[in-house]
Amino acid sequence: APAARAARISKAYGRGDARVVALDEVSLNLERSRFTAIMGPSGSGKSTLMHCMAGLDSVDSGEVFVGDIEVTRLDDKRLTRLRRDRIGFVFQAFNLVPTLTALENITLPLDIAGRKPDQTWLDTVVDTIGLRDRLKHRPSELSGGQQQRVACARALVSRPEIIFADEPTGNLDSRSGAEVLSFLRNSVREMGQTVVMVTHDPVAAAYADLVVFLADGRVVDQIPEPTAEKVL
Ligand code: ADP
Ligand code: ADP
Repeated sequence: APAARAARISKAYGRGDARVVALDEVSLNLERSRFTAIMGPSGSGKSTLMHCMAGLDSVDSGEVFVGDIEVTRLDDKRLTRLRRDRIGFVFQAFNLVPTLTALENITLPLDIAGRKPDQTWLDTVVDTIGLRDRLKHRPSELSGGQQQRVACARALVSRPEIIFADEPTGNLDSRSGAEVLSFLRNSVREMGQTVVMVTHDPVAAAYADLVVFLADGRVVDQIPEPTAEKVL
């Protein structure tokens, strides 16, 4: 089964004349160990799709699964647990805690959950982000690209089913952006992670295995195109 999937999900905001259809029967499979990019013009529904798939926002109709869990049927308590235990988030703003070191920021989700890090996994994550010599630094002592790599490592530390990244390079110059994208790609290639990223940037999307294009709340294109086999 895919790491996550949406089946004909629809979502509208507002009522009457103010009603906006953000998603119109969108279906999407996010296969395991694959890096998917979602592109499309502003207002095409990218954020809404990501939020609905990550259990941050409700759908009007259709179904969302993360693994074998039907997200669209969970109550708030179970949703919170799903987001905490099975999903990693990376945002445009790095959202690091300024008073904690890089390593403390990375392990924060485990500390909050009262869990011990899996040391082998933590080593792999830290080696892959390439920040061994910066682990004792605070965010203010790191470049933007380094901070975002710390935020990515924090998202990975609990070995989530899937990572949702919303414009992860939106605040970065192209070189720092490339560092973050390489890390996300390596987490897929070398660690088998599943990653989905919303981006405006075709250069960023080029790091992905699959690019899905949205327009007016619908999937209008996909690269590479699905083969007949996969559609069936
Ligand atoms: P982006 O295009 O980068 O996804 P937007 O500026 O469209 O960002 O949206 C930023 C945030 O504001 C999102 O969380 C979105 O849900 C919310 N938002 C977007 N459009 C509206 C709107 N018309 N009314 C209220 N909130 C909105
Ligand atoms: P994108 O991420 O591609 O920019 P969004 O998912 O943010 O697109 O928005 C899709 C549509 O839904 C847009 O027309 C946007 O204005 C609208 N929208 C998004 N969030 C809200 C909201 N909270 N309230 C009202 N309209 C919204």
